Amino acid sequence: MNESAFLNAIIQEYKKYHTLNAQDDRLIREAFAFAQKSHHNQKRASGDPYMTHVASTALQLARWKLDIPSIVSGLLHDVIEDCGISPQIIQRDFGAEILFLIEGVTKLGTLQYQGTQRTIESLRKMMLAITHDLRVLFIKLADRLHNMKTLGHLPQAKQHRIALETTEIYAPLASRLGMQSLAGELEDLAFPYLHPTQYQWIRKNITSSYEERLRYVQRVQHEIESQLHAARIYPIQVDSRAKRISSLYKKLLRNDMDIDRIYDLVALRIMVRTVEECYLVLGIIHHIWKPLPGRIKDYIALPKMNGYQSLHTTVFCIDNRPTEFQIRTQDMHEQAENGAAAHWFYETQKQSRLYQQHKVGVADQKETSIVKQLQEWQKQFPGSQEFVDALKLDVFSDRIFVLTPKGEVIDLPAESTPVDFAYRIHTQVGDSCVGAKVNAKIVHLDYSLQSGDIVEILTQKNKKPSESWMHFVKTRYAMKKIKNAMRKKMAIPQKTEYRIICQNRIGMAKDILAMLSRNHISVINISMTENGHFATIRLVVAITTRERAEQVFLKLRKIEGVKEISFKLIG
Ligand code: MN
Repeated sequence: MNESAFLNAIIQEYKKYHTLNAQDDRLIREAFAFAQKSHHNQKRASGDPYMTHVASTALQLARWKLDIPSIVSGLLHDVIEDCGISPQIIQRDFGAEILFLIEGVTKLGTLQYQGTQRTIESLRKMMLAITHDLRVLFIKLADRLHNMKTLGHLPQAKQHRIALETTEIYAPLASRLGMQSLAGELEDLAFPYLHPTQYQWIRKNITSSYEERLRYVQRVQHEIESQLHAARIYPIQVDSRAKRISSLYKKLLRNDMDIDRIYDLVALRIMVRTVEECYLVLGIIHHIWKPLPGRIKDYIALPKMNGYQSLHTTVFCIDNRPTEFQIRTQDMHEQAENGAAAHWFYETQKQSRLYQQHKVGVADQKETSIVKQLQEWQKQFPGSQEFVDALKLDVFSDRIFVLTPKGEVIDLPAESTPVDFAYRIHTQVGDSCVGAKVNAKIVHLDYSLQSGDIVEILTQKNKKPSESWMHFVKTRYAMKKIKNAMRKKMAIPQKTEYRIICQNRIGMAKDILAMLSRNHISVINISMTENGHFATIRLVVAITTRERAEQVFLKLRKIEGVKEISFKLIG
């Protein structure tokens, strides 16, 4: 597609679901031209003009029925990061809302997947937490989708890292947002890079059974359509759906790699108008073919965690072959395919006039907070409480996620300060902390960190923590460490106490004092308790280091009649 074809495609796609007024039409064209100018001469690894990437991203957003600011931000999402365009210019030319969305996407881009299990969960949570607005996530997902489609042109090591990140972070995020179709597509795109040999195996071994299966399902399709028509049910659509390669592989692993045991390799999907019709169709299918026990699933009465609704059944179909059917309404289908994006569309449709009047921007963050969006969404899908739980919403209210300069995610309680952060990194970093930079700007040590902040701690050797930190740190851990350090600071040894058990002989105390005087050690206190043949001497001297105390210990031992010595440095 050449560049102007892209522009037309985006506009046509948008017009399928919305009316495009003159102002928005101009905005899209201006953004397109701005992106063209900014990315002029930039090329993708594939050799394609860079513009194809941002235009594809915007087109995808239009396909998800998203709004004008999302599409415009899709076009502009790389201009700050890759072209050095200043945020001020974006704000001046396109407004605060677009800038907010682009900066959100840029911020998500700075997160790096470190490849350890421990960080995966906090990375996903963090993405949600710093997003504030679901549209930022949609733009990032559209961006990632196009990057995955063109991944073949990158060096191998990079391919693997990006494919892994896509499978571990982006596909599950899409899935949690109910965007099943996208989640599956991302996983399928990543699969050949992560499992090249298995991919080849599946292609070689499955293709023939897959094609045979498809022909078979077409026979079933004719049969079921005529049966439904006889019952006066006219489905909106009956089609077949091939199981995705990535999920097929997972299922094969559980089934001894035996393709004949995978009943839903190709499933039939029937889309009808109402919930009642869904159950009617299920009844008709079961009337014609006998269902496999335990394979009837009513996700309409009991939706999946992410809001997915459908009826599933597997029956002994034509030639007695087990075949899966999925029955749903158009709304359910839309929900299954595009989840949160679909929901966003319906919500904005509903309030579109209101929405146009109050163009959401940074100032309205509260209103468009992701938590609110998800809660609203949840209201519309009864039974999806688990979905919200799965997102662990509590993390939004009382946790923040900040980054080290290397992009590692650190999870802290809300209102944590750079000092909390420093102690979380390492006790020594905390103890020697003298200042902090947040997003490259120097801040006070009691600065309240925000999700997404990049935090760098400035340290100084031999620096000791300040007592004043106790007033503002939020983590108990930092509090404890500061207390420890304070105690140590107070406990700098001032003197050494020896306890000497010796013969009770004349001149013993005199010999000890003489040795101390020869070694220029001043005596603070000496006392003696006699106990028959033995005596215990308690000696306090001005020694402040363990090393010196040990030297004196050795000298004391050499004195005639000394049996046993213990010592400690005291404050
Ligand atoms: Mn991009």
